[in-house]
Amino acid sequence: MVLARFLTPDQYVSSIDKIDLDDLKQAGVEGVICDLDNTLVPFGSETISEVTTDWLGEIQERGFRVVLVSNALSKRVKRLSDRLGVPAIAGATKPRAGAYRRAMKVLDAPPDRCAAVGDQLFTDVVGGNRMGMHTILVVPLSQRDFFMTKLLRLIERWTIGYLQRRGLTGRPEG
Ligand SMILES: [Mg+2]
Repeated sequence: MVLARFLTPDQYVSSIDKIDLDDLKQAGVEGVICDLDNTLVPFGSETISEVTTDWLGEIQERGFRVVLVSNALSKRVKRLSDRLGVPAIAGATKPRAGAYRRAMKVLDAPPDRCAAVGDQLFTDVVGGNRMGMHTILVVPLSQRDFFMTKLLRLIERWTIGYLQRRGLTGRPEG
C-alpha cells in the first residue's frame, strides 16, 4: 500500500540517543532535520536535558550537520536555537514541503542525504518521507501536546499498531 510507505519510519526509537548513527552514516546521511517539541525538549518547555545536549554534541562531532525545524512560533524556537547552538526554522507547517526545502539549503544536502527526526507520524515522518528523506520516529518526551495533536495521537496510535501488525515497523528500539 502506497499510503503505508509514507507512514513508515526507517527507524523507530525510544529517544534520540537511541538513534543508530552508524546506520545513518551507512545510508549516506549528512544532514539531520530535527523536530523540537517532544523530541528535543518536552512540549512547550525550554528545559534542555543532558541527553539532548550530549546527543546534539555527538552527532555534530560525528560530522552530521543539524537544523531544527519546528511548527512552533519563532520567539521560543529562536531562544532554544541560540541556547542549543543549532540553526532553526520556526513556523514550519510540517508536513508541507517549504520548510524542508529551506532546511536542505541550510544543511547543503539533497533529500536522500537528509534524515528527518521527530515524535509525530503525521508531521515529522510523513513530511520527511514525502521529500524522500530517511525518517526517524521517536517516542514523545512528554504526554503534553497541542490540542489538535492530542486528537491526532489517537489516529497515530492506531496507525503505528497497524504498521507493527504488518511488520513494517517494530517496537521502539532502545
Ligand atoms: Mg514534536
